[in-house]
Order: sequence, then structure tokens, then C-alpha cells
Amino acid sequence: MKTITAILIIIFSSSAFSQIKFKWLGITAMTISDGKTTLFFDPAITRFGPLDFLPFKKVQSNHAEVDYWLNRCGVKSVQATIVNHAHTDHVIDAPYVTKKFQTKLFGSTSVLNIGRGHGLSNEELQEIKDGGIFKIGDFTITSYNTPHPPHAGGIMLMDGHIEKPLPPHSRAWDYKVGDTFSFYISHPKGNILYQAVADIDLNSPLHKLKSEIALISIANRTSTEKILTETVKPTKASMVIPLHIDNFLYPMKKTGEVDLWWGLKLDEFTQKIMNHGIKVHIPKYCEEVTLLN
Ligand SMILES: [Zn+2]
Repeated sequence: MKTITAILIIIFSSSAFSQIKFKWLGITAMTISDGKTTLFFDPAITRFGPLDFLPFKKVQSNHAEVDYWLNRCGVKSVQATIVNHAHTDHVIDAPYVTKKFQTKLFGSTSVLNIGRGHGLSNEELQEIKDGGIFKIGDFTITSYNTPHPPHAGGIMLMDGHIEKPLPPHSRAWDYKVGDTFSFYISHPKGNILYQAVADIDLNSPLHKLKSEIALISIANRTSTEKILTETVKPTKASMVIPLHIDNFLYPMKKTGEVDLWWGLKLDEFTQKIMNHGIKVHIPKYCEEVTLLN
């Protein structure tokens, strides 16, 4: 009887481990986990208001706030922190999360300089390059340079690269974009595309990738049609999760509800994708979603 119980435990636990699960923590912060290995993309749980972006204002990670939401969202272990670009709304808590979980920070030279300024050692940092491949547990991640589009009005805020270590108490304006990457995440269970920006160059190899799941930043998109024809259809994804949907300039509510970004037109996005028979899952803060069975 004991042997049978042990076998059943192994069977059930191994099948539970093999599902790929996702949790969203606002903007493009998310965990992707197979139960053994958890990847944490773009940890930016700390939120700043519009006045914090004034050129003379300094900002820093709010560790108590980060701990609160990690705890509430059940993020207990992390094997890699991966950052798509060096603006505060994608990177601000990355050094803290990396230290807390004693893991490694993956990012551009600008992201690594943020890590260095926050006391991470070279052993805790790994540079991402266009076309570079790195393995973490059973995940194989390929990075693709997908330049950051300008902000509203065609103006690129916080442009350039971070050339030297950036200390924790710095101006939001010092968090210069650096290189921006999207990621193709392969696992024995299937493939996931994380497109970090809404619009990508037509020549990008990203257009040729096949993935069951497409996680796409949709803020500041040229059009839903462009995302549909250039990413969603070529990937043949069966499910799309829109990211960068929330207004991160508002403080996070304890209810976990988020306000949508101004002019996001989420209903229009959802409807147009669903019209093509593709499922759209609008993420809820902390909610666990099974991506691959
Ligand atoms: Zn940005």
C-alpha cells in the first residue's frame, strides 16, 4: 500500500510540476513557472506617481511593498530575474528581487549597471544580447532585440544607455532605456513568446516563431490589426495575454484591482483577436493562469 501511495504521489506531483503557470504582477511583471523553475520577468511592483517623474525627483524600490505583493501572490522562489529594458516601470525592483531570492539578473548593459549600482556582484549578473540563448532549468530562452518605440507624441523619454553603476536612490530620468529585448521561451511543454513592445520591425526574426502562447505588451500600439497580422497570426498562438494594460502611475490598490492605461482600448483589442478564433486572457493581478498543460 505504501509503495502504491508513493508511486501515486510521484505521478501526481510530476504532472503538477510539468504544467507551465503564469502570474501577473502589473505592467509586464510576471512569473512563468514549471513548478521547479520560476522565471521572474520585469519586476516593477513599486509604483510611482506622475510627480515622481519630474527631472529632479529621486525614486527607489519600496521593499516593504514588494514583499507584501510577493507574499500575497505566492511568489516563494525565483531562479532568474529577466528584464526587457531599463525604464523604472520594468526594472525598479529587479535588484531587490534578485538579492532576495539569491538568483541572477539577466538584462542589457544598462540593466546590469542598475544591478551593479544596487550592490549585485558580477556573478549575479548576466548580459543579454540579440540572438543570445540562455538555459534556466528546463527553460531555454532566446532574446531578440526589439527597439523601444517612442512614447506619446513621438518623443522618446529616458533615451540612451546607462553607462555606469546606478545607485538605488536615483532620478527616474537616470533609468535610460538601453537595449530592449523580447523573449522566446521554450520548454518541453511548449513555446511562449513574450513580445515586450507593441510594434516590432517587419524584418525581426520574431515574425517567424511559432508559439502556443503570446504575451504581448499592447500599450502604445500602432493598431490591433498590426499585432494581429504581424505577431499573433504568424506565431499561430492559441492564447494571447495582453500586458502593459494597467495605469502604473496610480498607486496599487489593496483590492488587487488595476485601472487601465489611458486610451488602451482593451475591449477593441480583445474583440478583434477573438474574432479570429484566438483566446484572449486578460490577466488579473496575482491570479495563477495555466499556460501549457
Ligand atoms: Zn519603457
